[in-house]
Amino acid sequence: MRTLHRTITKYLDDKQIPYYIIMPKLLRPVKIVIRGLPIDTNPDLIKSELTNMQFQVANIYQLKKRDQDRTPMPLFQVQLNPTDNLDTIWDVESLLYLKVKIEKYNLQGGIAQCHRCQKFGHSSINCRLTARCVKCAQEHLTSECPTQRTDAPLCANCNGKHPASYRGCPNFPKLNQTQAKPATTPTSNTFQPKIHPFKFIFCQRCLYLY
Ligand SMILES: [Zn+2]
Ligand SMILES: [Zn+2]
Ligand SMILES: [Zn+2]
Repeated sequence: MRTLHRTITKYLDDKQIPYYIIMPKLLRPVKIVIRGLPIDTNPDLIKSELTNMQFQVANIYQLKKRDQDRTPMPLFQVQLNPTDNLDTIWDVESLLYLKVKIEKYNLQGGIAQCHRCQKFGHSSINCRLTARCVKCAQEHLTSECPTQRTDAPLCANCNGKHPASYRGCPNFPKLNQTQAKPATTPTSNTFQPKIHPFKFIFCQRCLYLY
């Protein structure tokens, strides 16, 4: 699969055809939140404890409040790489001799927005669509925007007068019942291809690229 994948992405890169890739669920890292540890717990200690339990920690950090001071909360977000034992993370009840609760990390109600093109449902790492600025909707990365904060924002998704990350945007995906399900719900194996000219779809069962 990898060879085929590389052949196709190389072809698209060479021809400068815009595309993005949606990683199959089995290959995606899983984001969890650990509840129950003291606010001053060193994230490195949590990492080594999880590593001892044969989990592969890709990233760990303490969640902070969205206030101006970014006050730390007694919540730790961990990104775990896919491993054979990954599903057993939901059964973990204690860490560092303390009772903990493992929860699914829910990013803005479970909807990912691409930092590169501002569209929804894929990550910027796998995106080769034209970059659109979250602030001014022009064709550049947000980090390269010459526009000041005070300038009138323009939405790349609806042309409205707000940043593309604004949740009140009419094009912002509404959370439906399927997306609201917790991570522990077994995912269906039904393969439902969607028609999109530049979208790669993997079969969830055989991981084959279509
Ligand atoms: Zn994108
Ligand atoms: Zn801009
Ligand atoms: Zn909008």
